[in-house]
This record gives sequence, structure tokens and C-alpha cells, in this order.
Amino acid sequence: MNSKERIVSFPRMGNIHIPISAFLREMSANIILPQANSKQTLTIGARYSPEMICLPYKMNLGNYVQALEQGANTLLMFQAPGTCRLGSYAKMAENKLRELGYDFEMIVFDLYGGKFKEVMGKFSLATGNKSVTKAIAGVKICLAKFDALDKIERELLFIRPREKNFATAEKVYNKGKDLIDKARTPEEVKTAVNYTMTEFKQIYLDKSKEILKIYLTGEFFVLLDPYVNMDIEKELGKLGVEVDRQIMLSEWVGQSLIPGWLRKKETHKERAIRTSRRYMTRIVGGECVETLGDTVYAAKKKLDGVIHATPFNCIPEIISQCILPHVSLKESIPVISLLMDEHTGKVGMITRLEAFVDLMRRNKRKKQKGFAVAGPA
Ligand code: SF4
Repeated sequence: MNSKERIVSFPRMGNIHIPISAFLREMSANIILPQANSKQTLTIGARYSPEMICLPYKMNLGNYVQALEQGANTLLMFQAPGTCRLGSYAKMAENKLRELGYDFEMIVFDLYGGKFKEVMGKFSLATGNKSVTKAIAGVKICLAKFDALDKIERELLFIRPREKNFATAEKVYNKGKDLIDKARTPEEVKTAVNYTMTEFKQIYLDKSKEILKIYLTGEFFVLLDPYVNMDIEKELGKLGVEVDRQIMLSEWVGQSLIPGWLRKKETHKERAIRTSRRYMTRIVGGECVETLGDTVYAAKKKLDGVIHATPFNCIPEIISQCILPHVSLKESIPVISLLMDEHTGKVGMITRLEAFVDLMRRNKRKKQKGFAVAGPA
């Protein structure tokens, strides 16, 4: 395929399309931005997927079908090593899409292990642009947007449970996201962040609220995509719970692409390996070790609880789910596991969240009075 004819697309996951599109635009690529994840995406993906495959695969396949229908002919996909199914997603999706009669090229990245050079080579192939200057400019704006999005998202997570008028912070955040998306240079990104942070400061907080603080941990895709996790962070915010999500996009990009010897501080994964050592001595793929490590760390930081969100049938998270009740008891921290797939109902999830929040609140009050408290929910 002539690179000039390439029309590039890639799967959606939370906000990731904003920095990736910025990079591709800088490389003068012709892009078709997939539609935001929705029931329609999931219905298409589930229709053509093996029933027991995990949810991210179904969503990715749905994204690809929608993008190909819109005219894309080059699909980007990243894969990971280990026992996680992500290693076989690209090939499986490619085979299925060819079986459905689509004509396209799939370009697969192996993001892990500091393979920055190879990743850049693949992007260059996908966009047909070999300019190093353009690539450097693309990386700069892309990284600036990853950082900026995480910065305003962290602020949203802090303000949301505390604000007097619920959803004001959400509006500020959405506007900020839009400004970051439209920014064309790292300077414009900075201006967008400063503006958004100033807007956040205007929000009136209710200081009398009793706020609980939890870690939200689990599988990467579920944590980062609000459609897939059924807006769990927003629902917790309504219940007066501050969510501290340890898995963030910029952290993931940094630890995946930057070689260890260039990093200055311990990454999230390194911390998780260290803190989970008592319960797990080998890495089994996905975010299993992060889930266990985050739970131990949350207990050490005296947080009120841990919510573990995972796709139904995710292999690494099945392992962590089996170990978590033990960790919860040993570390004295309440933990709940929520499994998501196309059959999960939002109302059921909210009911479980409400019950868990009640338990955490009771635990907190008991602790304040000096009583012993319980572990798993
Ligand atoms: S971590 Fe789990 S859900 Fe995510 S891609 Fe791997 S097997 Fe699927």
C-alpha cells in the first residue's frame, strides 16, 4: 500500500486518542478517529468475538469494524508479552477482520521493554513520514498531552467528591480536555492546563463532608475507559469517595517506553513488585502484580478500601482475585472485586458500590472509636 493512501485508525481507550492523534497529526497522517466506545461498539465486537474472550478484545474489534466501515485501511495495535491474551489480540483480530472481508494492513507495536526506537519505526511506516524533526515534535506534543490529561484528571478525582454542586468539576474537566485536544504545541497544552486548574480553583467545596479515600486498581483497559467501567469514578464521587487511581496513562507510557536505566524514580510497577512480594513472587502478565501491590500499599497508607475492577475472564486478574481476600485479611483493608462484561448491569454495580461504601464508612467510624475492623467485602 502506498503510504499516501494510508488512512490510519486505532482502538479507543479512555483519553488515549487525544495524544495519539496529536502525534499522528504531527506526522501528517490521514486519520480516522474511531467513535467513542459505546453500546454499539461493544455489540459489534461481541458479535464477532469468541464468547469467553475478555472485554478489551471485544471493544477493540468493535472499534476496528467501525473504523474500517468509515474508510480506514491501516490499523494500529499494541501488544504485550507474558501470559496475558493481549499478545494474541492483534493476530486474532486481523484474522477475523479478513474473514469478514475487509482489506487493510495491521501494524503491531510491542510497547514494552523500552522499545522506543522500534515503536517510532512502526509509526513511521504507518504514516509514511520519515522526518526525524516531525517525529520529535510529535513525541513532544504527545507526551505533553499525556501529562496534561493526567494532571487535570487527578484534580477532578480530588474535587468530585468534595464539590458543593455535583458535576461542576466534570464540566471544567471536559472543557479542559477539549482545550488540550485542540492545542497544537506543548506551550498551548500548558496554557490549557493552567486555565483548567484556575477554573477548578473556583469550585466551591463542602468542607463538612466525610470523605472516604480508596485505591481503584485492576485491569488497565477497564480502569481507563469510562464506558467500559460504567463511570465508576463518577459514581464513587457521588457517594463521597475520593478515588486514587494508581494506573494513569502518562505513568504507563513512561514505564513502557523509557528504559529502566534512564528512569529517575521507582515506577508504579516496580513499587507493586516490591510491595506484593509477600503474596506473589512472579509476574503473570496483565496488571495482576499491580493489583496486589496497590492493595498492600493502600493498607500501608491507611486508605479506607480498595476497589478491584476487571473484565470477566481476564486471566491475570482471576489470579489476583483469588489472592485478594487473603491480602485483605492480612493487611486489614476492605477489598471488593467488580467484574465487567457486556452482561454487567450498571444498577447492580451501583448497588454493590453503595454497600461497599457503607462498609468502609462503618469501618472508619469504628477505627476512630478504637475498635478492630474487618477485611474483605
Ligand atoms: S489483562 Fe486481561 S483483560 Fe486485559 S488484555 Fe490481558 S487477559 Fe484481556
